[in-house]
Amino acid sequence: MPQIIIPACSKLHDYEEAVRRVGGEPVVVSGDTDSAAEVIARADGLLLAGGGDVDPTLYGEARHQTYDPAEPGRDTFEMDLLRLARDANLPVLAICRGIQLLNVARGGTLVQDIPDQIPNALPHTVREPSFAIAHEVWMAKDSLLERLMREQIESDTCDVNSRHHQAVKDLGAGLVVTATAPDGVIEAIEDPSQRFCLGVQWHPENFYRTGEFRPLFEGFVDAARR
Ligand code: MN
Repeated sequence: MPQIIIPACSKLHDYEEAVRRVGGEPVVVSGDTDSAAEVIARADGLLLAGGGDVDPTLYGEARHQTYDPAEPGRDTFEMDLLRLARDANLPVLAICRGIQLLNVARGGTLVQDIPDQIPNALPHTVREPSFAIAHEVWMAKDSLLERLMREQIESDTCDVNSRHHQAVKDLGAGLVVTATAPDGVIEAIEDPSQRFCLGVQWHPENFYRTGEFRPLFEGFVDAARR
């Protein structure tokens, strides 16, 4: 069974369940006890979960007043995992904070606070229930994301949940945008040169019961299986 590494975070349940339901084995790791190199050496795939904000000093900006940090050490540990995963061409699925970290790890920047920095933005922070639809996204034709979702929906538009106040701004090296919200907020990025490297701004794992985004986890775990 493909071992899917998930760095520890406060709400693991839905990530683990989404991975299990497509035949992956979630393995939770922590920078407090595990070495990034040893983790990657035994991993088949890397799933980055949601959480607090990436420290803006990592992309050369002062902290916005809304800065809400992740657990201490998480930025550095997850950046190390991403770098090693890229070197090993290991499949990566990066969710919410994960897509933001993926972009920063490649030298990109973030919108630090959507309500403050994007006039007339759609509501991107809809908390309850976790699978509440907040807005649609427009997917880029023939991207990894669109090819996976094509099995599920006959459309390049899909409805997503949304619990983020930050977003990708300037793209990091080697990445392309593959979904945007109608207000222009970036909702997915990919590295087409990698076996499987997809970041999504929404929370596909919250739909594990009903399967709307099962193809994303299937594609990810299938890539990890090879
Ligand atoms: Mn959103």
